[in-house]
Amino acid sequence: MRAQQITTQPPAPTSVVTQNFAAPEGWLTAIRWVGLTAFFGYLTVAAYALWRAIDGGVALAVLGVGLLVGYALADLISGIVHWGSDTFGRRTHPILGPLLVRPFRDHHVDATAITRESILELHGTNCFFSAPLLATAVHLVRPEAGAYGGLLLSGALVAMALGVLAAGQIHRWVHQARPPALIAPLQRLGLVISARDHEIHHGGEHTSHYCIVSGWWNEPLKRMGTFARLEGMLARRCGIPTTRHED
Ligand SMILES: [Zn+2]
Ligand SMILES: [Zn+2]
Repeated sequence: MRAQQITTQPPAPTSVVTQNFAAPEGWLTAIRWVGLTAFFGYLTVAAYALWRAIDGGVALAVLGVGLLVGYALADLISGIVHWGSDTFGRRTHPILGPLLVRPFRDHHVDATAITRESILELHGTNCFFSAPLLATAVHLVRPEAGAYGGLLLSGALVAMALGVLAAGQIHRWVHQARPPALIAPLQRLGLVISARDHEIHHGGEHTSHYCIVSGWWNEPLKRMGTFARLEGMLARRCGIPTTRHED
């Protein structure tokens, strides 16, 4: 079945899109390369360390729980970062503007631009921010028998990092007119976010459904009004204004 493509809302002013996707600053490219290199370097070491730490069925089960928890938390992290960028970010911030805010804000203007991004653009920043999770996992895992606490934490951190990396690709799939055939079953099973779920974010004022990995947190957070409450609390108690309508 052909996936419903989430396109653009409202129509794209080409000057904004071109400005932000055509020529990223040199330092941004460097950060993305550093992120990709560090991520896959640490991932290799972490995978080897986890492999050595698995000494039986119990260890395997503990690792499985850790991976599941980490994957669930990656979805929550993606939602918090996305919400923060959409709600409080500023394009003009010297560091976070190009790294986080512009990609999310530009994505609201031209939703399908994500389907044309290079691997470096799509994954570099996510790798940069999630590589420290893998480095921490490497230091926590212990090869000794029965060291299940470290194994659980390490598994969770590795899955969180992989989930953050996957966020870019999963997000791209929901905007593709024809995602790979194997993806539709994963979307139907709810293992990755579906176009229908993500469309709620693009179809409104971008005030809910920020999570872009599995989407497991979207409905609970919406029903509890978590982000709206946080916005109100930050405005009242800390005087932090939202920037959602600035650009
Ligand atoms: Zn999107
Ligand atoms: Zn958004």
